[in-house]
Amino acid sequence: MNNLTSETKLTILYIFIAFAFSVAMRMIWVYQFNGYEPFMFNGQFMINTNDGYFWAEGARDILSGVSQENDRSPITLAASQLTAIFAYILPFSFESIILYMSVFLSSLIVIPIILIAKNFKNLEMGLIAALLASITVSYYNRTMVGYYDTDMLNIVFPMFFLWSIIWGINTNQNRYLIIVAIDILLYRWWYPQSYALEFSFFSLILLYTIIFDRKNLYNYKLLAIIMIAMINLDGLIRVALVLGVFYLFTQEKFQKYVFYIFGASIVAFFITGGFTPIWAHLKGYLFAKDVIVNNEGLGLHFYSVMQTVREAGEIPFEVFANRISGHSITFILSLVGYVWLAYKHRVMLFALPMIGLGFLAWYGGLRFTIYAVPILAMGIAFLITELTSKITDKKSIKYFSYFMLTLAILYPNYKHIDNYKTPTVFNVDEVKILDKLKNIADREDYVIAWWDYGYPIRYYSDVKTLSDGGKHSGSVNFVPSFILTNTQQQAAKMARLDVEYTENIFKIIKENAELEKPKKLNIFSNIEEMTKDYGFYDTNDFLLSLETDIELPKKTRDIYFYLPFKMLNIYPTVKMFSNIDLMYGNIYERPFFFMSRNYETKDNITDLGRGVSLDLNKKIVQIGSNIIPIRRFVRTAYNDKMELQVKQELMNFSSNYSVIFMKNYNTILVLDEDTFNSLYIQLMVLERYDEDLFERVLMNPHAKIYKLKI
Ligand code: MN
Repeated sequence: MNNLTSETKLTILYIFIAFAFSVAMRMIWVYQFNGYEPFMFNGQFMINTNDGYFWAEGARDILSGVSQENDRSPITLAASQLTAIFAYILPFSFESIILYMSVFLSSLIVIPIILIAKNFKNLEMGLIAALLASITVSYYNRTMVGYYDTDMLNIVFPMFFLWSIIWGINTNQNRYLIIVAIDILLYRWWYPQSYALEFSFFSLILLYTIIFDRKNLYNYKLLAIIMIAMINLDGLIRVALVLGVFYLFTQEKFQKYVFYIFGASIVAFFITGGFTPIWAHLKGYLFAKDVIVNNEGLGLHFYSVMQTVREAGEIPFEVFANRISGHSITFILSLVGYVWLAYKHRVMLFALPMIGLGFLAWYGGLRFTIYAVPILAMGIAFLITELTSKITDKKSIKYFSYFMLTLAILYPNYKHIDNYKTPTVFNVDEVKILDKLKNIADREDYVIAWWDYGYPIRYYSDVKTLSDGGKHSGSVNFVPSFILTNTQQQAAKMARLDVEYTENIFKIIKENAELEKPKKLNIFSNIEEMTKDYGFYDTNDFLLSLETDIELPKKTRDIYFYLPFKMLNIYPTVKMFSNIDLMYGNIYERPFFFMSRNYETKDNITDLGRGVSLDLNKKIVQIGSNIIPIRRFVRTAYNDKMELQVKQELMNFSSNYSVIFMKNYNTILVLDEDTFNSLYIQLMVLERYDEDLFERVLMNPHAKIYKLKI
C-alpha cells in the first residue's frame, strides 16, 4: 500500500465507507422482520419481487442441469446465469444468494460515483453523493434486500459507462476505450433493453466531438469502439471485434485507419438493424391501446394489460421528487447543483440521458425515476461542497458543515427505509403446498393460476404455467380469467383445451423448424383455433358449447389449479379479461362482487362499509338505496381438525345475490349468481367441487390445489 498516493488511499476509504453504509441500510428490513416466520421458508427470508422467481427458476435449472423445451425457464439469461455462478462458488444457500444479491450488487453504484468525483478533484462530493444515491427512495425500493431483479445492476452499469467516458474524454487514455466497451458488453448481456440509453450516450459524445473537439482522434476511437460494442450481433462476435479494434487503436501504425473503422462501425450498426429496437420501443409506448384486435382470421378482440398497469402522466410532483431525491427541497437543490456542476465541468453533460430517462417517469411510469438518482445526488453533493468552501477555509468547520448537510439530505431517505416494510411475495403457507406439489406433479404438468403467481409456482413446484409475469397479453389472460370466473363445467373443459392447444402449438413450431424449408406459420390465439376446430364462426357460440358434451382433445398430462385466498382481492380484475365480447370488443356489464373485511353489527344490522349493509332477520342486503332479498346465506368456518365447514341457508330463490360469511378470514362477500358459481368461489371459498371434474390435492387456509380429472 506504500506506493499508493494519499488520494488513492482516501478514494478507497470513501468507497469502503459508502459501500458499507449502503449495505447496512439494506439490512434494516432484515432486522425488522427478524424471526417473522410467515416470511421465511427453508430457514431464510423469501424474496419480495414477483419477477425474481423468474430468474430463480432459471438459476435453479442451470445448477441442476435439468431444463425442458418450452418451460420458459431463462437458463440463457444473464441474471439467472450470474445467480447460478454465485450459488456455485459461494458457501451460502440458494435462498440466501437470491435474497442478498441485490444488497451487494446495487451497492457497487458508490464506486463510479466516487471515481467520477475524483476526476473533479472533489472526493468529498463523491462520498456525499454515493451515500445519498445508494439509499434514495426509488433506488432503495428497487434494490432493497429481496428485490431480486435486474435493477440491482441496471444503474451500476450506466454509471460505470459515464465514469469511463468522462475519464476517457478528460485523459485520452487508451484504457478507457476498453473499459467502456466491456461495460457495454456486460450491460447488454445483463439487460438487453439498455440499448436506448447506450445509443443516447453515443449521440451525446458525437455531438460533443463535432462541437468542441473535432480534431481529436481519440474521440473517434471512443465513438467507434462504443458503436462496435453496441451493434446488433451475437455477444461473442462483439467481444472479438472489440478486442481486435482495441488492439488496432493502441498501435501507432494503424492510427490512419481510425476514421475508416469509425465509418464502418456506423454502417454495421444500421445494417444489423441497430436502430430498429429503439423505434419499436417508442412505438409500443406511443400507440398502446386498451383493446387489441387481431386483424386476420376472426379478428378477435382481447382486453389489454396496458389498461390495468397504466400510470403514465398521473404522478404528482411531490411523489416524483421524493423518489428521485427523497424530498422536494433536495430535488430542487439537486437540479440547481447539477446545472452548476455541468457548467463547471462540461463532461457532466454526458449524464443528461440518465436525467432524461428519469424524467420520463412523468410519461412512462415511476420505474424510470431511478436513472436520475445518482446524477442528481451528485448535483446536491456538489452544491454542498461548493457552497461550504465558499463560506469557509477552515477544515474543521468545513467537515462539520458537510456532515450536518449530508445528514439532512439522508434523513428523509432513512425515514422511508424505516417505514417501507415490504412483505414477501408469498407467505410460507402459500409456498408450503407448492413445495409439496413439486413431489406430486410432473415437470410437464400444468398449474393454472392467475399470471401473478406464474413465476413463483414454476420456481417452487417445477411445473409449467399458461401465463406469468412475462406472458400475460390479453389473449393469454383470457383463458385463466375465463377458467377462474366461470362454471366448473366450462372451466374444466377450457383448462384441458387450452393446455393441449398450447402444447400442440409448441409441437407445430418445432416440427416446422425441423423442416428443410420452414414455412411462415400463421398462428392465431388458442381460443380462435378452438373456435374454428369445433366448427364455429362465432367464438361466443363456441364458449357456450363448453356447457354441452363436447369431445375434448387427448389428455397428454395432468393439470392442477392453484387457488390462493389472496386472489379474492383481485377477483374483479381477473374477471375483466374474460368479461369482453371477443367478437365485437364490447365490455360486458361488470358482475357484482363486494367484499368487506371491516364490518360491524348493531341492532341486527351489519354495516359492511361503502353503503352496503346486511339484515339477516329480514334476509335482505341493502346496497345504496336498493333493498335486495338474499338468495342464500352461506357461513364457512374451520373446525378443530382444520376442515372447512360450510352451512348454507336458502332464503329467496328469486334473488340474484348471495352472501358468504367466511368466519376465520373475517370476510363477508356479497356476490351475484355468476360470481357465486365461479370456479374460484366454489373451489377456494366453499370447497364445493364437482367430483366428476376435480379432485382435492393439497389444502390449507391460504391456498388450495385441485387436480383436473378430465
Ligand atoms: Mn421446469
